[in-house]
Order: sequence, then structure tokens, then C-alpha cells
Amino acid sequence: MVVDDSRLVKVQLEDTLQGTGYEIAAYCRSGEDAIAQYDAVMPDLVTMDIIMQGMDGLDAAEIILKQHPDARIVIISSLAYKDTFDRAKTIGTRGFIDKPFHREQLLSVFEQALQP
Ligand SMILES: [Mg+2]
Repeated sequence: MVVDDSRLVKVQLEDTLQGTGYEIAAYCRSGEDAIAQYDAVMPDLVTMDIIMQGMDGLDAAEIILKQHPDARIVIISSLAYKDTFDRAKTIGTRGFIDKPFHREQLLSVFEQALQP
């Protein structure tokens, strides 16, 4: 499940994941929508933007992980600062990918995040 307010990022992810076996099951443009859709979709993995209108991605990730401690959430953001990184880890997200992302990094973080 892709959470990002930019449709461009969603399209880039779609392109990057083509032929990899990953499939985008749902696309959300806000944290609120992600929380609502998570229960319905129960995705194997969530990619989460940070800066979005309304609730930011870290708050949304925190709420999803409170409700679903086994959720696998990977942050995809250009906010690669230490405090952001630390908070993402504390919340329990499973990886951090810088924007703009690269296929190799994306796939390796996904693989790590999906490990039991
Ligand atoms: Mg954004």
C-alpha cells in the first residue's frame, strides 16, 4: 500500500516495481486515509511519505502500528535528518528510503522489512 500525497511518487513506484512481484494494492494520499484503508486492505507492506496535508506520515505510522503491531511500514521521504530517522525507528517502522529513491535501495529495504 502506497501512502504519498504526490501522485508522481505513486507512478514512480509503480514503474520501479514493475516485474518485481510487488503489486500496489492500494494508494492513499493522506495519513488519515492510510489509517482508514489499512484495516480494509491489510497490506503486506506500507510505503509512507512524511509530509502530507493534515496528519503527517510519522503520526499515521504510529497509529497504524499501535493498532497493528505487526504492520510493516517503510518511510519514503526526503526528510533524512537524524531526529526524523530516530523517531521513525522508535515508532517501529522497518526502514527508511530517501527520495529520490533508487530501485536497488527500494528492493533491499522492502526485503529487509518483510523479514519475520
Ligand atoms: Mg509529501
